[in-house]
Amino acid sequence: MDHSLGGSTETGYAARHTPSAASQATLNTDRLEEVKKIFTAHLENKGLRKTAERYAILEEIYARSGHFDVEELYAGMKERNLQVSRATVYNTLDLLVEQGLVSKHQFGRNLAQYEKSYGYRQHDHVICTECHKVVEFCDPRIHGIQTMVGDLLNFHILHHSLNLYGICGDCRAKAATSTSPAPEVTK
Ligand SMILES: [Zn+2]
Ligand SMILES: [Zn+2]
Repeated sequence: MDHSLGGSTETGYAARHTPSAASQATLNTDRLEEVKKIFTAHLENKGLRKTAERYAILEEIYARSGHFDVEELYAGMKERNLQVSRATVYNTLDLLVEQGLVSKHQFGRNLAQYEKSYGYRQHDHVICTECHKVVEFCDPRIHGIQTMVGDLLNFHILHHSLNLYGICGDCRAKAATSTSPAPEVTK
């Protein structure tokens, strides 16, 4: 599965802040159709039923931007009056991860975070350990390391996961103002 589709010509450093809130992105219908085709083939391959619920979950995921956990996804579907069970949400997510249509992350919290991945540029994450903000960045050197290590150790590398943890500027600023004494007023 080629994750470098589209936008791979970009060099240099790009950071994109992703709000964790359930913000709705505009749906790319062509991409969604492609994703549906891949999912259908996967379900057929595994002899699984092509239920409306599974496709509704897939659509909901591709309508979202940023990262979400299973509870946020479930709540989003309920809000739109889509009737699905939690169990179906869980097992559909597993199928989508298996197929490379969704990536699963552990950002140092209990619940795993997910995001759509088909046709989106591969990226890595910086996570604030205070406010749990997740910022995405893309550095082509990481892809270079992946290729080099694969060649060197004779691995066909399928994917990678790189998370950097730290304290963001906002949290450091907040800590500085709350711990330093109020500035003296001199006359
Ligand atoms: Zn922070
Ligand atoms: Zn991400």
